[in-house]
This record gives sequence, structure tokens and C-alpha cells, in this order.
Amino acid sequence: MTQRPFDVEAIRRDFPILSRSVRGRALVYLDSAATSQKPRQVLDAVRRYDEEANANAHRGVHALAEEATRLYEDARERVARFVGARDAREVVFVRNATEGVNLVAHAWGDANVREGDEVLVTVMEHHSNLVPWHLLARRTGARIRAVPVRDDGRLDLDAFRAMLSPRVRLVAVTHVSNVLATINPVADLARAAHEAGARILVDGAQAVPHLPVDLGSAGADFYVFSGHKMLGPMGIGVVVVARERHDEMLPFLGGGEMIREVEVDSSSYADPPWRFEAGTPNVEGAVGLAAAVDYLSALGMEAVAAHTRRLGARAREVLREVPGVRLFGPDPGVDSSGSVVSFTLDGVHPHDVAQVLDRFGVAIRAGHHCAQPLMRRFEVPATARASFYLYNTDDEVDFLARCLVEATREFAPARAGWEGPADGPLARFAPPTHTPPALPDPVLRDSAGDGESDREVILDHYLHPSGQDPVDGAQVEWWGRNPLCGDEVVVRTRLDGERIAGLQVLGRGCSVSVASGSILASELKGRTVVEAVRLLRGLKAMLRGEPLPGDLDLGDLTALRGLKDLPVRVKCALLPWTTFEEGMERAGVIEDAHGAESREATHGHA
Ligand code: PLP
Repeated sequence: MTQRPFDVEAIRRDFPILSRSVRGRALVYLDSAATSQKPRQVLDAVRRYDEEANANAHRGVHALAEEATRLYEDARERVARFVGARDAREVVFVRNATEGVNLVAHAWGDANVREGDEVLVTVMEHHSNLVPWHLLARRTGARIRAVPVRDDGRLDLDAFRAMLSPRVRLVAVTHVSNVLATINPVADLARAAHEAGARILVDGAQAVPHLPVDLGSAGADFYVFSGHKMLGPMGIGVVVVARERHDEMLPFLGGGEMIREVEVDSSSYADPPWRFEAGTPNVEGAVGLAAAVDYLSALGMEAVAAHTRRLGARAREVLREVPGVRLFGPDPGVDSSGSVVSFTLDGVHPHDVAQVLDRFGVAIRAGHHCAQPLMRRFEVPATARASFYLYNTDDEVDFLARCLVEATREFAPARAGWEGPADGPLARFAPPTHTPPALPDPVLRDSAGDGESDREVILDHYLHPSGQDPVDGAQVEWWGRNPLCGDEVVVRTRLDGERIAGLQVLGRGCSVSVASGSILASELKGRTVVEAVRLLRGLKAMLRGEPLPGDLDLGDLTALRGLKDLPVRVKCALLPWTTFEEGMERAGVIEDAHGAESREATHGHA
């Protein structure tokens, strides 16, 4: 394959989406760890396949079917070569990394894991390399144990070695952390696992896009990754199954393609990899993935890795300049890919960080990143995460830092966090200090209008929240939590007959959930329970984009109207209200008017 020089500007021209604008600004795409963008070469390969060769692979004797089969099997060969698999028959196509782990948990796990056995995971795993093992443990009675993560974001290798024992049947570990960018020494881990008699599955979802991966030397029994994080299409992923493991596995899904002979009451199976690919395969996905592999190979994975590492290092350098930034994970180097940087900004909730950045056209991720055990390990409910790839530039990294300064100016006066009950779930959070907000630099402000004035109302409630004073004699007290971001709220209500005589709303969360709680406290106090229910229904209708009932005036709640297009933030806005509602329902004050939204949150006694 002809090598191509690594020229970021030339690379960017291959990615049509990078020239679009977002909210009137040039798109700065820093969310490739969630999914990467696709170059023309991949888009063209998929389109060409659909226009010229679409047919069901393996099934026909006509020319198109043969061509589709050849393209599909050729993609398997190219992907195998790219990751250094010893044989293309080790490459099983699946939908994504998640399906790859589930395949192994069923096909290998069900046949080899018994009650009392152990599966060793790590605290830094993505949920997709945890939940399939939880389910296996439920089916078999096996036990899950987790290798701890050190303060610096590296795996505790001494603990890992100490935890290995003859009981461990499988080690399931990520190659590169999607939150910390830590590169785990998978070849060493594989050697140690094998010496202890265990098998090892490596989650390469964040490794294959960013590092030269050589499975020949990595020694993993199972290695999974997703096409959509490495310039390929969604809906195609890979699990590489070492050929020595083939005979230890049962089929995963049953159906067409994976069989040799079928009787009405029994069947025999095709050889791997086809044994594990039941049903019509995603041929266009495989063709697109092969084109992505060719694109990366032409640049050279060493060059791709060096570029990402350099951007990661620069990001950490400039973010350290922003007051209040806390960075997670090691600095880029031999044990960090630099492909992601996770951070928190003191006093600014990660959701607010992401939303301010979005206003400036910068796409990052905020939340728990499907790594809740790791969030708990670092005692944060969520982080913001910027991730880099071959098309990102130094300027984009610097712009990220500049926008963070704006987010700090807008929100940091709050130094968010509300005082919670002394022994309740909020106890560990410090009380707020309220100082007037400094509005963003006009250069970075978007146009005035409803959006601007709504934002000012939200900000005002966030910085000067109502409902902070204790209520004596509250009959109803309920706690709610949004598991997506860890926001929590406690609502205490004192009733005087039909009327809401006192409300206290204590919470810890983003500007939207805090402001919504403040509005709840100010709007509901003095109203009847029936009026409160009407307001709640109106809020839900507004957030679904439905017309409001008749003469209903939502007051300051109207400032939340722009959230209807942001489903994640809708949950933030509803949290205090559904917590109030559920508390009142449980207390028998209102009938079950419970909407689907509230079921998405977790509630309980404070
Ligand atoms: N593993 C890691 C480390 C990831 O970052 C991700 C996705 O973010 C996954 C697994 C799951 O990938 P997918 O959703 O494509 O199955």
C-alpha cells in the first residue's frame, strides 16, 4: 500500500462533515471516542457497494452474490492483516464491541464458567465489558472481582497478580481506557493470565483506532473492537477469537449462515468464523470497515498514534492553564494514548461545560461515559471528555481551552454544590457561595433572543436558588437521582390541608436541574396540590414539544423550553419535579400521575 504523508489539512479535506458549521460556527469535533467521522474513501466504498454489488453474501450462485461474498471475505482478510491476526478465520464480524463481548460471554462463558469460578475485570472497564460478565455470573454462579485503579489512572498490577488464582477462568480488560486513555500492558496481562490457567478477553474499542495493534504478540484469546470508532460505519465490529479457543465454544446465535446440516430436531454447525455469524451479515459495513483500515494503513498507525498523543499532551498542557480544571489519567506516553482527556471544572457541572462548548460549535462528551465504577473510584458523578483523532488540530485544542474559560466565567461564581442533609445522600457536598455571574465575552456570545433571556433566567436561579431554607414539620421527603450524570435532589414538602405551605429543595447538579429545583420551590409554594400537578403536566408537555393546556402559565419554567430538543437535559429539568411527584404519590397525596420520564430516574427516601 502506498504510504501517504501525515498532513492534517489534507486529511481534513477527506472528511466532508468537518466543513459544516454548528450553531453558526465551524464544527470542532472532539468526540471521536464516542464515534469517529468518516472520510470520503469510506463513504464512497459503501456507496459503490450498494450501487454496484449489493446481494446476500454466501447464498447465491449469481454474479452479484459471488461479488458480495468476495468483498465480505476480502474485508475479513484486510481487517485480520490490520490487527495482526494469525488467520482471517479468527476474525468474526459482529455489530460492535459490545456484541463481541456478549458473544464471548455466551459462546465461551456458558461452556467454560461454573459456579465458584471467578471472572476478573478492572475498575476502568466500559459497561460493555462488565454487564455481559454480570449476566454470565447470574447464569452460572460465578463471581466477578475487579482489579483496582491507582490514583494516577494506571491499573494496580500488583493487585492484579495477587488476584490471579486457579479459580480465575477469565480476565476481561480494556486495552485503552475510554475515560483515562491509559494503555494497559495487555501482553503482560495475557502472559500472567495464561500462567494462572485463565483466558483473557481484551476490549480494543479505544485501542485499534489509535495504536498499532499486533494481536500476534498481544496474546489475547479474544479481542473486540468497533468499526465506527476507527473511521468505519456503525453496525460493524469484530471479535478476534484465537483459533485455539474455537473448539471450546458453543455457537452464540442460531439461524442461517452458521450451520452445516439442519434436521427438524437438530443441527450441526459451520466452522468458525461463520459458526458465529448467524443470519445475513452486514456486508456494506464490512466493506466500509475495510476501506477505513486501508485509509489508516496508508497513513500508518505509528503516525496516527503520534499525532493523537501530541494533541492529548497539548490538551493537558493548555487545560492545566484553566483555573479549576482537574485532569484524570496519566499524561500521554508509553502507557497513555492521549486520545481522550477527561476533566472536571471546579464549580461547573460537566453537562454545563458541554452545553457551553456546544454553543461555540465544540462537540465533547459529558457524563459517566459508561464507566460508573470508575466515576465512583474518582468520587465524581461525571466528567467532561474531549477526544482527539487524526483530523483534529492544535487550534481546535486551544479553542477548547478558551471556551472552558468562558464556561468558568459564566458558571463558576456559583462554585456549584448545595448543602445537603447532614446524613443524607448529599452530605458530602459543600455549601454554595453565590456571587453575581460575569457574562461571557461578547465575541463568544451567540445571538440575543429567547435563548439568551432564557439562559439568563436559568443562570439566575442556578446562582441564587430558592427553596434553601429548612422547612419545619415537612410531612413528605423524597430523594431523586439521575443515574446518567449522578445529579441528586431532595425535596421536602410541608402541607397545610390542600395547600403547599413550605418547600425545601436541596440538590447537587447541573445548572438545569438546580434551576428547575429553584423554580419548583418558588412556583409551588402557596399553591394547591392540584395546581402543582397541573404545572408538572404542563412542564412535561412543554418538554415534549406539545401544546400547553388552555390558560396554563408556566412562569419561569418557560425558560426551560429550549431543552425539548436535548433529551439528556430534559431529564435534568424533570429531576426535581419527578422527585416531588413521586414523594407525593408515595405519601398518598396525589394519585399515580407518574410519567414515563420519572421512571428513568432513581428515587427513594432521603
Ligand atoms: N469499550 C470501550 C472502551 C468503549 O469506549 C466503548 C464505546 O464507547 C465500547 C467498549 C462499546 O462500543 P460499542 O458501543 O461500539 O459496542
